[in-house]
This record gives sequence, C-alpha cells and structure tokens, in this order.
Amino acid sequence: MNAFDEVNQFFDRAADRLGLDDGTRDLLKKPWRELTVSVPVRMDDGSIEVFNGYRIQHNAARGPYKGGTRFHPAADVNEVRALASLMTWKTAVVDIPFGGAKGGIQCDPRTLSETERNRMTRRYTTNIHHLLGVNRDIPAPDMGTDSQTMAWMMDAYGAIAGYTPGIVTGKPIEIGGSVGRDAAPGRGAVYVMGEAARDMGLTVDGARVVVQGFGQVGSWVARIAHEMGCKVVAVSGIEGGIYNPNGLDIPKVVEHLQEGNGVVGFPGSDAVSNTDLLELDCDVLVPAAIESVIHQGNAPRIRAAVVVEAANHPVTPEGDAILNDRGIHVLPDILVNAGGVVGSYFEWTQNLYQHKWDEDEVSEELHKIMSSAYRDVWEIVQREQVTFREAAFLLGVGRVHHAAKLRGFV
Ligand code: GLU
Repeated sequence: MNAFDEVNQFFDRAADRLGLDDGTRDLLKKPWRELTVSVPVRMDDGSIEVFNGYRIQHNAARGPYKGGTRFHPAADVNEVRALASLMTWKTAVVDIPFGGAKGGIQCDPRTLSETERNRMTRRYTTNIHHLLGVNRDIPAPDMGTDSQTMAWMMDAYGAIAGYTPGIVTGKPIEIGGSVGRDAAPGRGAVYVMGEAARDMGLTVDGARVVVQGFGQVGSWVARIAHEMGCKVVAVSGIEGGIYNPNGLDIPKVVEHLQEGNGVVGFPGSDAVSNTDLLELDCDVLVPAAIESVIHQGNAPRIRAAVVVEAANHPVTPEGDAILNDRGIHVLPDILVNAGGVVGSYFEWTQNLYQHKWDEDEVSEELHKIMSSAYRDVWEIVQREQVTFREAAFLLGVGRVHHAAKLRGFV
C-alpha cells in the first residue's frame, strides 16, 4: 500500500462516520489537479540530468492551495499526493483560509551542489509557475528544502510575474519572510503536546522526551520542550542518535551540530541507532523525520505513553491500530505539525498587507490558533469517544465537506 492509500484509510474512517456517499468521497479524496514535470538540470560537470517534479493540488474548497516542496529520493507521485491531502485536512483542522497541495522533486539534494540546487529549483518553478499565484497556490519549504530554496523560487517566479513575495512562504526574513516562521512547526507541536498532557493528567515538567529527527522541525521541538522543562533524553539525525537518560543539554547539542559534526559524538551521550531510538523507554516520543517509521513491525515495542507526530505521516495505519490497542495516545500530524503552515499563513498575510509583525505577535497568534484547534479536536475525542487522529480527521474532513457544499460543488 502506498502512502496516499494509507492516508485515505484515515480519510475513509472519517467519511464513514460522517456518512459521506461515494461521489462525495471521490470529490474530497482525489487531487483536483496534478502536474508532473521534467526538470532538466545542467550539472556542474557539464552533463544533463532530468529529474521528476510534481505539484499536486489536492483541494481548494477552503482557500488557495497551500503546501510545501519536498526534495527527497522517495518523493514520488503517491508520496506527494499523500502529503498534499494531509495539507487539505491540516489547514482545515487549524481553520486557516487555505486548501491543500504539495510539490516535490525526486532527487537527493545532499548529492547536489548549491549551484545545481539553484538551477534545479528555478527550472522547476518555471515549469509549474502557471499553477501558482498568491490567490491560487502558495508553496513553502518541506523536507530537503529551506528558506534559500524559497528565495530562489520567489526570484524565478518574479522573473515571470514581477515582484511577488507572497508567492511562497518560509522565505528568508530579509526578503519578506516572517519572524518566528522557522520555529513555528516545533513551537506548535510543543503547544499541542502541553495541552494534551494536561488533559491526560501527565506533567510536562520533567517528562522524558525522545525526538527522532533534528532538522527544521525536530530541532525546534527539542529546544522548546527543553525550555519548557521537559527532559529530552534522546535525539537523532540521519546519521544516528544520542541518548542520555538524565537528559541532554539541548542548546549545547545545537552548538555541537552547528560545528558540523552531526549530533553523534556529543559529549556525555551514548550512541543509539534511529531504529533503537524509537523503542526507548520514555513519556513522549516525537517522530519528526520521515514517513512510516512506526509500523506493525515496531509498534508492539514502542514504550512511550504518547506519540506526538511532528513529521507528516510517521505512523502507518497498521502501526496506529497497534498503538491504539496498547493504549498509547497518538497526537496526529494534521494537528501537531500545523504550526508550520500557520506560520506560513502569517507570512503570507504580512506580504499581502506589506506590513511586519514582531515575534511576540507571531507567537501569540500561533498559540491562539493551535490551542483553539486542539480544543476543537479534544471536544470531538470526548464527545465521539474516538482517538485524536479520528477526531482530527472528522474535524478536517467535515470542514472541507461543508465548504464544498456551501460553494455548490456537491
Ligand atoms: N511543509 C510544511 C507542512 O508539511 C509547511 C507547509 C506550508 O507552510 O505551506 O506542513
């Protein structure tokens, strides 16, 4: 089963409860528009390589398409479809005026030089530009892309359409990015974790947290969880992880990482593989890296009380069922990591209004939106006696369906 089929299993469960007929399911499940492009790139050695690129526009019932751009070897059409559909439900769960989309290029960006990535990004943007627009589709970063990639996308789009900072979000602050956008996915995830812990009767102070992935999402989750008084006992990068049962000094781990050494070898920690890290004894496990890392193979061995999905789709439906049976709460991606797209929403708004917010304003608004989304989900968990994931899908799918009805699609 591919990732898109898996996400659709979660969708179908919500559709069953909402009593949606087959036609309506098709309308909400299928991407509304898909574009596949070839992205030819002149490599530094003079050769030409042609990469596959995608922009999948899943649903725009609630607003313009919105979603990141992934550069990753596994970013094939079904993975991008899955991620696009998650964006539709995510923007609806946090009730911001966007639909869902995702783009990607199937490549390994770590093997490309900066000039190759620059040329590849520009060509990709040129090839999909006719789908984009500040009121049509607004890309952002995702795995393998960053603020620099967004600067190139904005520039390539601007060369065609004129200066348009609101065409992408996640830009460098100097050219129209928003303060707080980089920390927003991590900050949002920790807000949700804090609210849920309170409702579950767990204490955040001193809670043992394991974070898989120390990139743009995971490193912020670790930093903010550490600031809030959690004991972050293990973190990992692609090359492997580090563990200290007494808690890691996260600001020092960040410094160690910035020295270019990865996280492994951090003084006073033991090395742990990415696979073993997921099975460590802890209170909160935060997968913040790639898809499907918790599955039927390892779900029986997960020893956390709560799994907080900071990555997109880190738990397969089979893994999810096992965790549920074992009484492990799973806080789902479409709620937990929505802080990223909420930060994007603030950036887009500031670009449209040509106005700047300060960091306090961004944090306060982010907190408001994330808390209100959490409370909406929690209310459904209690009322319907369902899991957090089922509740979030019921909320997201219900809102998109309602908007589609109001607009006269169904
Ligand atoms: N890539 C992020 C996500 O998966 C952010 C998307 C956006 O800001 O548009 O939610």
